[in-house]
Order: sequence, then structure tokens, then C-alpha cells
Amino acid sequence: MRVTFLGTGSAMPTGERYQTGLVVEDDDRTLLVDCGSGILHRLQQSGVGYEAISTVLLTHHHLDHVADLLPLLKARWLAGEDHLEVVGPAGTKDFVDDLLGVHDYLEGRVDLQVREVGEHGFEAAGFEIEGFETRHSVPCLAYRFGDAVTFGADSEAFEGLANFADGCSALVHDCSFPDDVDVDNHPTPTQLGRALADSETRVETVFLTHLYPHTDGRHEEMLQSIEAAYDGDVRFAEDLRSIEV
Ligand SMILES: [Zn+2]
Ligand SMILES: [Zn+2]
Repeated sequence: MRVTFLGTGSAMPTGERYQTGLVVEDDDRTLLVDCGSGILHRLQQSGVGYEAISTVLLTHHHLDHVADLLPLLKARWLAGEDHLEVVGPAGTKDFVDDLLGVHDYLEGRVDLQVREVGEHGFEAAGFEIEGFETRHSVPCLAYRFGDAVTFGADSEAFEGLANFADGCSALVHDCSFPDDVDVDNHPTPTQLGRALADSETRVETVFLTHLYPHTDGRHEEMLQSIEAAYDGDVRFAEDLRSIEV
């Protein structure tokens, strides 16, 4: 399975990191997880292309995870693609309806299916996936793809989420800010290191994502904060970088 980070940034631009999105590919299956601002362009830059994306899996409804959803729908319509499935947490149906209420000329342009999922196993784009509620300011789901990868979405660091990823090759985890930023709903590196260590989760590599501009130039220091408690392999995710899991 290949995971390509399309956007490893957040709601505040850094210039190098677009908002949240990643693509999971395996054989002829392709799934986009989250679709923040810039992800439509990243899909083209990555070579995956928006024509290949017929299913989008949303972690939650914050703008930095959904801003390019209707632009993706419109691009697919203009390219002659006839359908799109959106899968996400409770409230996704109303959310998509509301978006189309604002941009009503897009209604009915493609066959749009919307499906809501929760803390259970489900299938999307041919992948077997499990959902897990994170700790964020709005309902938000982390997603696990077998023993390959867990995408932790937006979340504070806590043992439950670290354990949800136990046995995976990769855990992609929110690490929005360095230690000196006081924040709720996202972890600091020290908090993340402690949660990983306390959980005793066995994950091959933790990839840090959802990076605010505050983290620029401070990666070494952030890694040291995590390593103070956790001795596993930790790296920073980068836009347009792929990993095999
Ligand atoms: Zn969020
Ligand atoms: Zn976010």
C-alpha cells in the first residue's frame, strides 16, 4: 500500500505545506482522505489526478479538511466523470447538502453518494477501514487501514489513539505546534511523546503532520521533545512524499 502526503499543513499557510489531504493506493484502489485547500492541485502534482478519486473519506468538517471538496466535485464534472462518493462522520450528509445549497449550480452534476460512518469497521473505495473517535473541538474520526497505516486526523495526543494504531507500519499523527504554544485540541510534541510512551503502542514509524507555521525551523527541537519520552522512529511528513506501508 502506498500513502502519499498531499497536504501536511493546517489552517495557516506555510508556503510549503498545503492543508490536509493524503492518498491511499493499493493495486487499482485509490482513496483520498480529507480534502483541504490546495489538495485539488496537489492531486495533479502528485500524478494521481482528480479523475482517479471517486471516493473521499473525511475525518471531520473543519475547513482545512474539506475546503477543496466542491472544487474536486466540479473538476470531476468538467472532466466527464459521473460520480463521487463522500464518506465521513455523523453530520456529513447535512454538511454536503449545505455546501450544495450555497453552490446550487453544482447540484445533480455528478451522481453524489454520501455515507456516514463512526467507530466501527467499514469499506470505502475497496479498503477495509476502522474508525475511532479522536479528541478534537468537533466530532472527528481517525482511520486505520489494516496493519498498514493509521491516520490520526486532528486530535490531542492520548493513549487510546496511540493504541488504536498498535501494530501498524505507520501512524500519521497531528503535531500542530511546538511545546511553547499553549493549545487545546491539538498536541504539543511533549504531550505526543508521553502518550506514545504510556500507551506502549508498537508502531514502526510515526509521521508528524498538520504543522502550523510556528513549527518552521523547529523540527529538531520538536523531535527531541518527543524522544524525551518515546524511543520509536519519528519523522516529519512532507507534501508530495510517498511511503510504502
Ligand atoms: Zn480540525
Ligand atoms: Zn485541521
